[in-house]
Amino acid sequence: MQRVISFLLTLLLLAALTACGGAPAPGSAGPSQPQEPPPQEASPEPESPPEPEPYAIWDPTVMPEGGMRDGVAYVPYEGVVEHLFFHPVVAYPELAFDGDLKSDGIDDWMVTAGEYLKILQSIYEKGYVLVDIADCWSQQTGEDGQPRMVKNTLYLPEGKKPLILSYDDTNYYQYMLDNGFTYKLILGEDGKVASWGLDPQGNEVVSRDLDAIPILDRFVEEHPDFSPFGAKGCLSLTGYEGILGYRTQTDRENWSEEREANRQKEIEAVKPIVAELKRTGWTFGSHTWGHISLNTRSYETVTADMQRWFDEVGTLVGETPVLFYPFGGRLDGDDVRQTGPAFQWMQAHGFRIFCSVGIESWSKCKEDVSAVICDRLHPDGTTLRSSKSLDRYMKFYDAREIIDLEARPRREVGWLA
Ligand SMILES: [Zn+2]
Repeated sequence: MQRVISFLLTLLLLAALTACGGAPAPGSAGPSQPQEPPPQEASPEPESPPEPEPYAIWDPTVMPEGGMRDGVAYVPYEGVVEHLFFHPVVAYPELAFDGDLKSDGIDDWMVTAGEYLKILQSIYEKGYVLVDIADCWSQQTGEDGQPRMVKNTLYLPEGKKPLILSYDDTNYYQYMLDNGFTYKLILGEDGKVASWGLDPQGNEVVSRDLDAIPILDRFVEEHPDFSPFGAKGCLSLTGYEGILGYRTQTDRENWSEEREANRQKEIEAVKPIVAELKRTGWTFGSHTWGHISLNTRSYETVTADMQRWFDEVGTLVGETPVLFYPFGGRLDGDDVRQTGPAFQWMQAHGFRIFCSVGIESWSKCKEDVSAVICDRLHPDGTTLRSSKSLDRYMKFYDAREIIDLEARPRREVGWLA
């Protein structure tokens, strides 16, 4: 049907062009002379975008009718919701770990695409299923008439455990482009989210195997029971180098009409990517505009930075209740009873879930304000190498089977010592 419409549109467009006569070519006799129609050139028929495959999203806080869906029994779950977070994954280890100044940082805070896929396989086999972070708590009115966050009962396929995934700094920063990461997300010819980038030889590569986001999409396509509600992960975005590989940011110095025009082009280009991600179970959170430490910066700096995030990123991804602390720096300065002015400002601007980083998937609903604070675990080089983390992460995977010591720099491995 879409092809027929596109063919009709082409016909209409041709008719319109013929009716207008088009602009006279330079040196032609001008519009007063009747013109011969130009010889028909064999142009390929424009490809219509493929019809997207339907994608179902379910609410895990609602028990399916009769306790069953698709022949699977659902049961209530009240326990811990585990939460793992990743950074962008390394597509080309030979570029990431080439011994330059960035090598050790990438080794510390990232995993390779191969390690990431092995982690997904392991957490899937251990019975975890994906849930969206925003479905794990909701706001209710307390006995004092004040709104408070409460932990939700989740209705999960029997025997399964819930898992939140989040992905920090999915902005495709400039420094990553030279260091073995993909450059941006695009929509492939099949309409699905893919990555675009350059391989070490400089060839353009469109792939669904080199970037954490399409890798998870593919994994869920192949193992739909890993995501019974359609949830994927929450993308934690800064704004200072744009989002998802598109340079949608402003620059207070050196701004020009040309740069603004380019920015507008990037904004238009990223919109369909955001829409497709949302349609297929991805959600978005804030990581501040400038990746600033929320535990040390002044109220004025924090609120001005966040206003810029709302202006430049919130306008593209929509409202979000989730704030991911850069560097794990807590707004309350590590005191759960503290709800300072910057925390209050964030809460008043819609944030309800405040995520740091820690050694377990801890969470607490605050008593003085409607907000939940929580920690996430971090599969990366530091934890893959550490003997302490080996046990801590065993419920998800055995780091000894995940870490790619061939690809990574020769650095200490705690559990080998
Ligand atoms: Zn970050």
